[in-house]
Amino acid sequence: MSKYSFLTEEIEALKNDGLFNTIRTIGSAQNSWTIVNGKKVLNMCVNNYLGFADHPELKKRAIQGIEKYGVGPAAVRSIAGTMEIHLEMEKKMAAFKRSESTISFQSGFCSNLAAIPTLVPSAEDVLFTDELNHASIIDGCRLTKARRVIFKHSDPNHLEEQLKKEEGRRRLIITDGVFSMDGDIAPLPELAELAARYDSLLMVDDAHGEGVLGESGRGIVDHFHLHGKVDVEVGTVSKAFGVVGGFVSGSTVLTDYLRQKARPFLFSSAVTPADVLATIAAIDYLSESDDLVKKLWDNSRYFKEGMKKVGFDIGHSQTPITPVMLGEASLAQKFSKTLFDKGIFAQAIGFPTVAKGKARIRVMISAVHSQKDLDFALDLFTQTGKELGVI
Ligand code: PMP
Repeated sequence: MSKYSFLTEEIEALKNDGLFNTIRTIGSAQNSWTIVNGKKVLNMCVNNYLGFADHPELKKRAIQGIEKYGVGPAAVRSIAGTMEIHLEMEKKMAAFKRSESTISFQSGFCSNLAAIPTLVPSAEDVLFTDELNHASIIDGCRLTKARRVIFKHSDPNHLEEQLKKEEGRRRLIITDGVFSMDGDIAPLPELAELAARYDSLLMVDDAHGEGVLGESGRGIVDHFHLHGKVDVEVGTVSKAFGVVGGFVSGSTVLTDYLRQKARPFLFSSAVTPADVLATIAAIDYLSESDDLVKKLWDNSRYFKEGMKKVGFDIGHSQTPITPVMLGEASLAQKFSKTLFDKGIFAQAIGFPTVAKGKARIRVMISAVHSQKDLDFALDLFTQTGKELGVI
């Protein structure tokens, strides 16, 4: 028996359960039309909400960044010094988010791993976390000794019951801003009110709100005008901003503290100059114009209305994320494959990412989709829906 037999056995089990993930190969930039497994298809799968992943201005600034600062920072910021461009990006992001200060991390995932255990490290602390929070929040919670209390999805009443029961030295409430599978928005005003009433810190992961919600894409805190009432705003530039990286925005004392204590900041190198300059270009763009954000919302409305009109169940999304509810995972997979054969890349999502019986195609709308693209998609979704007996 090979020492790796436990790996082959588990991979076989995944295959037998239909849970083995065959990852597709992308042969071009992420744009409205993308080469996937050698075939040019309409891309309705990525988080490129504003089309920044292949935007000429971002690419130009990234190249300038490489020419001046090289391809990598070559060390951890707290050891070998921070490049001035990382500081400039943090300053610009804080101003954009209308927060006091920002600290950047290597990704949104890392930002959650940085913030949660640093703020509530001890067994005397308590975390209150929404049952549908993202995996990186769950992992952040696993890195602390703090007691974990899970509250029902977007249910402030259930959270309040828990806050009344669970005392602690420090208490931190955590929620996703936009839930990525259903596209619903967290009840942040109610959570902020509870955080203030029960003397707790409030943290929101705005990965799918950045570039989408609020004035010119400033995010969920701006959307609800809650500046100063949400203590920790986690963000990513890996979605609407089209680059790679993450950050935490909040008060200056919060980011000063994370700069001294957060382990991904102290023990891992920062994002590259190209990432930084492209992120700055995205912030500059959004600070000057909201045309892409408006286009994104217009496109979403157009697509959702078209899908409803022909009889699809598209859940209760409040954002451009559009789940096309199909029920059984096998049907969702078949639907996705048929769409791909016809020229659309839209991923099926099933258990364990969503509950059993709630499988779907998750359509990601982008500002780069033209009306012709959306009509093409509506047409092929309708055809496929009829062929497979969904509508
Ligand atoms: N938080 C949420 C809610 C997310 O959806 C994601 C990405 N799937 C992340 C964090 C991680 O972001 P990144 O890709 O920048 O690590």
